[in-house]
Amino acid sequence: MPDRPITPPGVDVLDVKLFGADNLSCSYLIDAAEPALIETGPATVFDTLRDTLTARGVEPKHVVLSHIHLDHGGGIGHIAELFGDTTIWVHDIGAPHIVDPSRLVASARRLFGDALDTMYGEPKPVDEARIKIIDEGSVIPLGDRELHVLYTPGHARHEVTLFDPDSRVAFVGDTAGVCYGDAWQKPATPPPEFDLDAALDSIGRVQALRPELICFTHFGPANESALEEAAKDLREWDGLLRPLVLRGADEEELIAALEPNVGEPPGDPSFVRAAVELSSNRNSLLGFLRYYRKNVIGDA
Ligand SMILES: [Zn+2]
Repeated sequence: MPDRPITPPGVDVLDVKLFGADNLSCSYLIDAAEPALIETGPATVFDTLRDTLTARGVEPKHVVLSHIHLDHGGGIGHIAELFGDTTIWVHDIGAPHIVDPSRLVASARRLFGDALDTMYGEPKPVDEARIKIIDEGSVIPLGDRELHVLYTPGHARHEVTLFDPDSRVAFVGDTAGVCYGDAWQKPATPPPEFDLDAALDSIGRVQALRPELICFTHFGPANESALEEAAKDLREWDGLLRPLVLRGADEEELIAALEPNVGEPPGDPSFVRAAVELSSNRNSLLGFLRYYRKNVIGDA
């Protein structure tokens, strides 16, 4: 396995210590005439992120979300409140849910129950006037550099990748899954929106930008080859799961089929627990099952 690449000058990885774990989830700080923050993490890590930004003396002028899942953008309202001049950039499908997070919270609560409060906390609403919608091909101007927006659905319908053409860094959110340690990777395929065809297409579109570095939210920079690996993993999962699903295998059998392919994330037991809490094999399987029901079996 190749060692992790170094982040280029002007791109800082801010570990938000999600679930108290190191190197599980991050925000990226882009140093520019108008500094930008990519991802805020959930409301539960707001204090950590605020303290990190304060210690650096940085006030971001732009905050961009790859998508609005709570682990990526649940803290956006807190950050918007703290930095009153900051422009918030988000996909148009995501925008109504950061203005009024109630539906987002209700659906997360159905999934996580009371654990939601300790996992992700309560988002605060963002004033609509602060939001700018990002479209495919939008350019986010940071003064002396810029971020280009590429729609990369698959993990979520409204997922985007941000590309910095100067440093050739692609900030992919969860477009290519997660990547820990020295390139241990796993697809991130949650229900209800995971779409295999869109995910593979999106990975190909990021590759077509010829990025030199891939910045995962979970976690940190990786070499460009991580994209090919992400596509390979998705195809392998599909190859394992599809025939079993078509012959009516149950959830347990399907998870057992995935386990040897996935292995265990690298790290101590507390990191492994946190990584599973963030993205379990069961949750990933449910995303695939929903995709098959919609697109293969045709009963959803
Ligand atoms: Zn995520």
